[in-house]
Amino acid sequence: MSRVPTQKSYETEADEENYAARRRSSSSTLLFLIIVLLLGVLLFLRYKGESKEDDTVLSSPSPDIVESAPPEETAEPETSPEPTIIERPWNLVLVNRDNSLEEGFEVPALTQLQNGHAIDSRAYQSLQDMMDAARADGLQPVICSSFRTWDKQDELFYNKVSSYLNQGYSQADAEDKAAFWVARPGTSEHQLGLAVDIVDINYQLLDENQESIAVQQWLIEHCMEYGFILRYPTSKSDITGVGYEPWHYRYVGIEAAKEISEQGICLEEYLQAVPCS
Ligand SMILES: [Zn+2]
Repeated sequence: MSRVPTQKSYETEADEENYAARRRSSSSTLLFLIIVLLLGVLLFLRYKGESKEDDTVLSSPSPDIVESAPPEETAEPETSPEPTIIERPWNLVLVNRDNSLEEGFEVPALTQLQNGHAIDSRAYQSLQDMMDAARADGLQPVICSSFRTWDKQDELFYNKVSSYLNQGYSQADAEDKAAFWVARPGTSEHQLGLAVDIVDINYQLLDENQESIAVQQWLIEHCMEYGFILRYPTSKSDITGVGYEPWHYRYVGIEAAKEISEQGICLEEYLQAVPCS
């Protein structure tokens, strides 16, 4: 019976030793794990530090950045909304009954012509060249209308309205009828400074005979060579909203003028801005 406890105690000692050994072993394992963990944390922190350094390097100007930037830029337009305001170069600004100038619009620079006339300085030389060429062909073109201030357009328009009011039209009807012949303030190309009305020195009446006089025939044939267009062809009055006006020339630049002329279209069609109504 005594052997059993001895045996038992022996076994217990052995167990204790084993147990102690296991504890030492698990303590070592735990210590090892902690060291590994700490090393991991240190490595991670070091890696983060290096990443930041890398970022700093990449953010400085380098060919790599320049090359990698465009894909981000090209991806942007897909998500951003379409622009609602149509930006056009100065020579292709559209001014008509549906497209008014902003109140307070000013021509950047005007060049004064004879008889108190003026034109946007950027179109001046082309106008001068066209007039000189017509004169060289034995003609006598005269500018009878050019740049107009807002006040002047206002005066012209309301004079026309008055004439319809005197005929018994209502205010609204008188304005609508007047607008077919004289643009409402803000909607005249003369306010833009890029339009001129040209007639023959010997025939200055603005009537249906203008189309057949030599000066108009010469201008209709050659104006595009100088960057001008006959702005309101009679056949396009439903699109332009302007009636018979074969003396009104608008500067758009040679490239646009030639294309408009060759295609037999008006400025609204060229700019793909034909009104819906
Ligand atoms: Zn005009």
